This record gives sequence, C-alpha cells and structure tokens, in this order.
Amino acid sequence: MSSPPGRRTCIGCRAIDDQTALVRVALRPSEGKQPDVVVPDPERSVHGRGAWLHPRRACLERAVRAKSFARSFRRAVATEEILRRLTEAPDESGADQGSRQPMSTDADAS
Ligand SMILES: [Zn+2]
Repeated sequence: MSSPPGRRTCIGCRAIDDQTALVRVALRPSEGKQPDVVVPDPERSVHGRGAWLHPRRACLERAVRAKSFARSFRRAVATEEILRRLTEAPDESGADQGSRQPMSTDADAS
C-alpha cells in the first residue's frame, strides 16, 4: 500500500491527509528489555521506520487501542510518551472527526 506523494495515512483514523496536517512519529530505542518508545519526530530527523497521525487525542487513542503503533513499527512499542506529549499540546478544542487542527508547520523545511 503506497500513498501519493505528500500524502500520508493517519494510523489512528486511517484517513489519507496531507503530510503537513499529520505529525510523524518514530522510535527511540530503549535500553535493555524495554520496548522502544514512540516519540514525535516533527523534523523527520529520526531515521528508520516512521508512522504518521493527526496530532489529535482521538486519533492517538484510536491508534493505541487498535495497536496501530505496534503494527506500523512491527514490534512492541511504548506509547505512553507519545500520548503524553501530543495530548499536552493545546488542542483541547473538543474537535471532532473531520475538523483539522491549524497546526504550525514551521519545522517542515527540509
Ligand atoms: Zn487521524
């Protein structure tokens, strides 16, 4: 399954959206036997496998519940940090499915 250029599938709601509307997440390797940790990667500086999702609580929770992170990264991963970091963002607007967060894309330059 491939997406058109510049378009990515949200692993939460499965909608295909422009990548500027999504946030990339990647894995930070953990020590020992802990699962790798899913972290936001807004500058796309982390090499290796990544996943994309809307920076919205609804999509995050859906991705966690459906184990979409584990599926995307093909291993067990820890999602507490990504949940905390993305839900701390000021997006408590109660946005429902389909409405788009006006997210800053300052870090998008390559
Ligand atoms: Zn989504």
